[in-house]
Amino acid sequence: MKVVLATHNAHKVEEFQGILGRALPELEIVAYDGPDPVEDGTSFDENALIKARVAAAHTGLPTLADDSGICVDVLGGAPGIFSALWAGHGKGAVANLELLLDQLADIAPEHRAASFACHIAIVNPASGFETVVSGTWPGRLATEVHGEGGFGYDPIFVPEGHDITAAELTAEQKNAISHRARAFEAAIPVLRMNVIPD
Ligand code: IMP
Repeated sequence: MKVVLATHNAHKVEEFQGILGRALPELEIVAYDGPDPVEDGTSFDENALIKARVAAAHTGLPTLADDSGICVDVLGGAPGIFSALWAGHGKGAVANLELLLDQLADIAPEHRAASFACHIAIVNPASGFETVVSGTWPGRLATEVHGEGGFGYDPIFVPEGHDITAAELTAEQKNAISHRARAFEAAIPVLRMNVIPD
């Protein structure tokens, strides 16, 4: 059965298909190609739901949408929903992480706790079912960039239980323990109960 993923990013569709398809082989994740909503929510949950509702209304199909970011304790959870734009519109991932490192320059290692969060909204227009599941990946921020893998804030994020950054893990290692992996795990039983017909 077709489930729309509210993204134009083919890499994300592949990732969702790979992980969810293993547990739920009847699912076919398809990319959304309709109009994009304004992401004007004030939480990961709201932004994920905004994206999922618009794609569900446009396609009439069950829809998934994710929203993710990094949350730093000493910044009260920021960058949070502003992770992709932390250094400003059009600045990009390197500027974002350089700004974050700069802001935490005087903060001691024991106060650099941070976590990645991934929230996945699931909307089924046929039944009106809506929910959001989430996964978090705790860790702390390094004081400098390490590693070549991953993307975004990975080169400055040291996952709990590790002394290397997420950018130094293999893709397989990261994909087994990340915030996204944990959110996918939470999404599987919800999809089974509320989206896939008996
Ligand atoms: P989006 O919700 O997929 O657009 O992600 C928002 C932003 O959060 C990304 O642009 C990254 O800055 C950050 N982010 C989310 N997940 C990760 C991750 O796994 N590694 C590094 N950065 C991430």
